[in-house]
Amino acid sequence: MDGQGIIDSNSAVEAAKAFAAEVIAPNATAWELNRALPREFFAQAGARGLCGLLVPTEKGGAGLGVLAIAHVMEALASADMAAAFALVVHNNLASNIAINGSAALQDANLPGMVDGSRIGAFLLTEPQSGSDAAGIKMAARQDGQDWVLNGEKAWVTNGVVADVLSVYAQTNPDAGARGIACFLVDRDTPGVEPGPAYQMLGGHAMGVNGITFADARLPAGAHFIPAGKGFRAALAGIDTARAVLAAMNCGMLRAGLEVAIEAAGGRHAFGKALTDFQGIQWTLAEVATELEAARQLAFNAARLLDGGEDGSLAAAHAKKFATRTAFARLSDCMQVMGAWGVTHDYPLARHLACAKLAQYMDGTSEIQNVVIARKLLG
Ligand SMILES: Cc1cc2nc3c(=O)[nH]c(=O)nc-3n(C[C@H](O)[C@H](O)[C@H](O)COP(=O)(O)OP(=O)(O)OC[C@H]3O[C@@H](n4cnc5c(N)ncnc54)[C@H](O)[C@@H]3O)c2cc1C
Repeated sequence: MDGQGIIDSNSAVEAAKAFAAEVIAPNATAWELNRALPREFFAQAGARGLCGLLVPTEKGGAGLGVLAIAHVMEALASADMAAAFALVVHNNLASNIAINGSAALQDANLPGMVDGSRIGAFLLTEPQSGSDAAGIKMAARQDGQDWVLNGEKAWVTNGVVADVLSVYAQTNPDAGARGIACFLVDRDTPGVEPGPAYQMLGGHAMGVNGITFADARLPAGAHFIPAGKGFRAALAGIDTARAVLAAMNCGMLRAGLEVAIEAAGGRHAFGKALTDFQGIQWTLAEVATELEAARQLAFNAARLLDGGEDGSLAAAHAKKFATRTAFARLSDCMQVMGAWGVTHDYPLARHLACAKLAQYMDGTSEIQNVVIARKLLG
């Protein structure tokens, strides 16, 4: 399909379902066991219009809203959340460049990002600072027209394959968050040293690593978002990211429930199908109820954000509840399948690992509670 073919949310969701069935589902276990997502994945996604989902149509993208992208990512994550999240990060950066990038940065990056030949990554977190993101230490020093970066980034999704790195750095430690600027860095810049992929409990299609910057010299044009606006820009899409991640966890749980129903229905013990036992039926019913609640929270948050309302509280509830529910209830789905559920013959092990990872991504569950408590207590 031509990438320009996606012009409305229904066709985007259909494209995502087809991509999930034809490309992600058949390969996701191999990606996990090989611990890598091939670069071609992004070009394949780009060819289906899935790499510029939030980029305006006049700039070559699909121009989708939050609800639409939540449905798209729910469909993709039902096959593999790790691959879907790799695309989310890439799509978010493309959108950020379309909004905040100079004409030169847009020309240099957007066409390749939308067709999936140029892969993006978002570098905020550092080894010593995650939740307290304003505490980053990556130093940006101006030298004539150039900027020079020194420091270390951690937990970079797509870090092992990315071509363009959006690096948040401190230009003036005395200014705190107001000193943080953002730079668009070409991966081939001398002094940029990507580390090997982290070995995690799962989710290896996210290609997460650490990246060191040792006197990495950037031209003036790489100055993407200036100090004073950088930190706000880093957090600007966080509510959307949380709503979308909640939807992704719903996608995984729905897939896990379907697999469990089919597997338990085909397996017999004590003379009847496992699904004939009331205990198994009630476990599955509990999963279905909590999945329904998580979906309502996720899509409610997305609708509020699309309507321009303050969606922070709704997104925090949705993200915390959906990731917690997916982690607990995927485990229940695995349990009703017997020991076979833990093998890579089924997708549940991949999904369970990703549900755990999701409890840290885009703000931990505890940080969602910080947001919720702030609203409760004023
Ligand atoms: C798979 C994966 C992919 C990621 N991808 C990216 C990426 O692409 N780019 C990027 O920049 N980052 C990325 N991250 C990093 C992620 O944003 C951080 O892991 C997250 O912000 C938490 O930071 P931390 O891990 O350093 O934990 P810390 O901030 O050190 O927190 C440690 C513990 O303390 C708790 N805690 C912290 N503050 C409070 C508080 N105020 N009240 C109560 N409890 C608190 C936390 O909830 C947590 O349980 C990724 C993480 C994962 C797991």
